[in-house]
Amino acid sequence: MNHIALIGAGPSGLAGARALSRAGIPFDGFEAGPDVGGLWNIDNPRSTMYESAHLISSRTTTEFAEFPMASTADYPSHRELLEYFRTYADAFGLRERFRFETRVTDVSPLPAPEGGAEPGAPRWRVTAVTADGETITGDYSGVILANGTLAEPNVPGFAGSFDGEIMHTSAYKSAKVFDGRRVLIIGAGNSGCDIAVDAVHHAASVDLSVRRGYYFVPRYLFGRPSDTLNQGRPLPARIKQFIDTRVLRAFTGDPVRFGFPKPDYKIYESHPIVNTMVLNHLGQGDLRVVPDIARFDGRTVHFSDGSSGDYDLIMLATGYHLDYPFVERTHLNWEGASPSLFMNVFPPSFNGLFVLGMIEASGIGWQGRYEQAELIAAYLAAADDAPEAAARFRQRADAPWPDLTGGYDYLGLDRMSYYVNKDAYRRTVKRLLGTLPPTSERGPLLPSGLVTASTNATTASDPTIQTESGTA
Ligand SMILES: Cc1cc2nc3c(=O)[nH]c(=O)nc-3n(C[C@H](O)[C@H](O)[C@H](O)COP(=O)(O)OP(=O)(O)OC[C@H]3O[C@@H](n4cnc5c(N)ncnc54)[C@H](O)[C@@H]3O)c2cc1C
Repeated sequence: MNHIALIGAGPSGLAGARALSRAGIPFDGFEAGPDVGGLWNIDNPRSTMYESAHLISSRTTTEFAEFPMASTADYPSHRELLEYFRTYADAFGLRERFRFETRVTDVSPLPAPEGGAEPGAPRWRVTAVTADGETITGDYSGVILANGTLAEPNVPGFAGSFDGEIMHTSAYKSAKVFDGRRVLIIGAGNSGCDIAVDAVHHAASVDLSVRRGYYFVPRYLFGRPSDTLNQGRPLPARIKQFIDTRVLRAFTGDPVRFGFPKPDYKIYESHPIVNTMVLNHLGQGDLRVVPDIARFDGRTVHFSDGSSGDYDLIMLATGYHLDYPFVERTHLNWEGASPSLFMNVFPPSFNGLFVLGMIEASGIGWQGRYEQAELIAAYLAAADDAPEAAARFRQRADAPWPDLTGGYDYLGLDRMSYYVNKDAYRRTVKRLLGTLPPTSERGPLLPSGLVTASTNATTASDPTIQTESGTA
C-alpha cells in the first residue's frame, strides 16, 4: 500500500492531509513552522504575511467548500484566516498527522530493486531536521510537495548601487518601517499596491515604479464582492474580456489618468489587481506613479524616462519564484521558471512525486487546491486498488495536455508560467477525477498520526522514520 510523505501544513498541505485521510491513504506530514496555516501564520518564520493583510479574493470563493468560515467579513484578515486553518485542522484531526518544526532538507530516489519495485514500495527517502537539530529519515512510496509558492523572493538586479535601505515585500511586516521616510515601491502587483496604501499613512512621500499597465478591480461591484459575480457558467474569454473591460472603465475609470501606462495586454491575461484604494490615493496626491528603473546612484534613483528621485527606502514588490530546494530539478521536470507537470501536479514520468499548490489563478481559492489534492488521493488509491485505472490515468499524460488557459492568452512572464484559468482547471480536474474510482469506498483513515507510523512500522510499505539515534 502507498505510504506518503506530505511536506507543508499550509492551506495546500492541509487540503492534502484531508484528502489523503478521506481516501484512507497513510501519510506522514512534515511542517517546518510551529503550527498549521502556512504563510497565513505571520509568526511562521517563512511567512510573507504583513500586519495589514486581508484576503484578496473573497471569503466564499476562497474557503474550503465543506468547511465554511465562521467570519462575516467578506475579506477577512490574516488573523481570522489563521484561526480558520487551525479550526479546520482540528475539526478533521489533521494536526496530529504532522511533525511540526521539522524541515525537510532532502528528497532523493531510492535505488530501484532488481526486477522492478512492487506497487506501493518505497521509492523516495525523505530527510528532515527537527527543532532539536536531530536528522530523521523516512522511506515513502510517494512524496507530496506542498511547501508553498510565495516564499522565495524574486530579487532582480539593478544597475548602480543604492545607499539607503532595500527591502523585499517578503520581509515587510508593519507600516512603521515607512515612518517619515521617502519611499519607492518597485512593482504594483497586489502586494505592492496593498503596501503602497499602508505607506501613504506613514511615509514622507511614496512613489510607485511600474513597467507596465494594470487592470484594477474594485473589491465590490454592484454592492457585492466582485469575484462572486458571474459565478455560474463561465463566459467565453473574449466576451468576458469585452464586458469586464467596460464594467471596470465605468467603475474605476482609466488608470492612465493616474499615471499608469496603458496595459499592453487584455484584461485577465495577467493577474488583476484587486485594489482601488491605490487609485484613490493617487487621486488625492498621496502617491505618484513613476516609470521603470534605469539605475541607482547613492540615494538617487534614475528612471527610464530620464527623470530621477531621492529615496530612503526601496521596497521591492517584485514577487517570488518557485523553489523546491530539497529535490533535484530533473525529478520535477523543470522547464524554465517552473516544473512542467501534468495538471501542474504530476511529473510526466509519474515518479511518485506530486506537487500540490503550484497553481496561480484568479479565484482558484483553497477549494481549487483541495480539488488538486483529491485528484492526487484518487490516483494513489487507484494505484493501490485499481492499477488499470491508474495506468490509464498515466497514459493521459502521454497525450497532448489539456488546455488550462480557458482561452486567455497569458503574458509570457516567469510568474505566469504556472498560471491557469480557474474554470478550465477545475473542470478538467473534475473530469479526470471521474476517470478514477471514487475514494469514498475505501473508508476514511483513522487518525493514527506519525507516532504509530514511526514507532511500529518496519515493512517496506509502512515506512520507518529513522533518527540519528535510532527509530523515532
Ligand atoms: C499577502 C498575501 C495575500 C494573499 N491573498 C490570497 C487570497 O486572497 N486568495 C488566495 O487564494 N490566495 C492568496 N494568497 C496566496 C497564498 O499563497 C495561498 O492562499 C496559500 O497560502 C497557499 O498555500 P500553500 O499551502 O500552498 O503555501 P503556504 O501557505 O506558503 O504554506 C507552505 C507551508 O510549507 C512549509 N514548508 C516550506 N518548506 C518546507 C520544508 N522544507 N519542510 C517542511 N515544511 C516546509 C511552510 O512552513 C508553510 O507552512 C496570498 C498570499 C499573500 C502573501
